[in-house]
Formats: sequence, C-alpha cells, structure tokens
Amino acid sequence: MIKAVVWGENIHEQTSDVVAAIYPEGMHSCIAQALNADAGITATTATLQDADHGLTLARLDDTDVLLWWGHAAHGEVSDVVVDLVAEAVWGGMGLIVLHSAHFSKIFKKLMGTPCSLTWREAGERERLWVTTPGHPIARGLPDHFELESEEMYGEPFAIPEPLETVFLGWFQGGEVFRSGVTFRRGAGNVFYFQPGHETYPTYHDANIRKVLVNAVHWAAPAQPRRQHITEAPNRDVDEALEPITARGPKLHRPGEKGLR
Ligand code: ZN
Repeated sequence: MIKAVVWGENIHEQTSDVVAAIYPEGMHSCIAQALNADAGITATTATLQDADHGLTLARLDDTDVLLWWGHAAHGEVSDVVVDLVAEAVWGGMGLIVLHSAHFSKIFKKLMGTPCSLTWREAGERERLWVTTPGHPIARGLPDHFELESEEMYGEPFAIPEPLETVFLGWFQGGEVFRSGVTFRRGAGNVFYFQPGHETYPTYHDANIRKVLVNAVHWAAPAQPRRQHITEAPNRDVDEALEPITARGPKLHRPGEKGLR
C-alpha cells in the first residue's frame, strides 16, 4: 500500500466563495478522495495551518509520495519544513507538484531555476496531449483530452530540461505548455502537473484524477528511504578497503569535521 500525503495551502477555500463552492472540504480533501478510490493508495492530508504544516520528520519518514498544492502563501511555508521535504525527496520520497506550486519553495529548491512562466486567467479551454505514450503516468488515458476551463500557463517555463515530458498542454488563446514533466532528484521521483486552478473544477475531472493516481504509483519509491543524505562522512586511512599510507600535506586535522 502506497502512503500518500496531500498538502494543501488551504487559503482560497476559506477566502473565496467560488473556490469554497467547488471544493467545500478543500482542494486537498478532493485530491485525497481521488487517490483513496484506488485500492493501492492510502492518502491523508496536511495543510499550511497545521503545526509544522502537518509535515514533521516522523510523518515524512512514513510518506511514500507527497503531493503539493500552493498559490497565495508560498512565502509563509517554513524553510525548516522545506529542507525536511527536500531531504526526504533526495532520500527517495516521491513528490508531485501541482499547478501554481511551480513557484513553491520546494519546487524552486529542487529545480534550481526560477520556474517562471506566462499566465492568463480567462477560463479558456486546455487540450492536453500525451507526448510519451506508454508512460505509466498516462496509463488508461486517451491520446488527448480537454478541460473546458483552465488557467493558461505558457512557455517559456523556466525549469531544467525534464527527464520526460508526459503531457503537452495547448490553450485556446494559442499558447502551449509542458504540462506534465518528470525529474529525478537524488533517489526521489518528481512530477510537475500544470492543471488545477482553484476557480475551476479541475480536480473533479475523471482524467485528471486518473493522472494523479497514476503519478502516485509512478513516484512511489521502490526501495527504503536513504537516510542521512546530507552528511559527508570522513573515511579515515585505516578504514580504506585496501591498505594505504597517508602522504603529502593535509589541510584537515585527524577527526576534524568537514567544512561547510
Ligand atoms: Zn492558478
């Protein structure tokens, strides 16, 4: 059973009547329901307002795949939590970054690029094309499908060249966007998926829910979490696999911690 946590910023659900009407229990709950409909996934939720944003080290250690939706309050996310999430991903936790979370601290940290794009909120139609047929994230989908209303996100999308581009989105106004892209960061699988503007019922769409379920299965780690990923242990001469003698000048004193 894959353990997923859906993290939601949970702000517009409280401040916008439009968003509250579409997602009365919050977007994170709607997404978790989609995941829990799959027999192989058990999904819980966490929000910005929870203590430690609901993401303690213990909970992250027990999470196979984290989904992240944020928009209005990226800056309010604790850097301590962002570091914990990054270390979990490097150690093997899957991460699925949704829609406006392209500007989240965690996505920018893992990408190392601005993650900027062009955008327009005009309720236009989006047509998503599967650009990598046979990819596990596209399993069971038609070769293209439509969302009657989505926020336009357009190229150039300032991300590193993806590992794979699974979906390409076309918008009524003419722009295109790499709407579904994968990355590997350390031992962790990362998937960014563009649909999900909060004033449209995107996460109620059957194809979108299928993508999210597929993506959780794809992102789940195949091996136990790699621990202590940020440590850089010194291997002393007498620990070398073959007998060696230290020679030449040395900068570090014996037993000294490495520099940072
Ligand atoms: Zn949006």
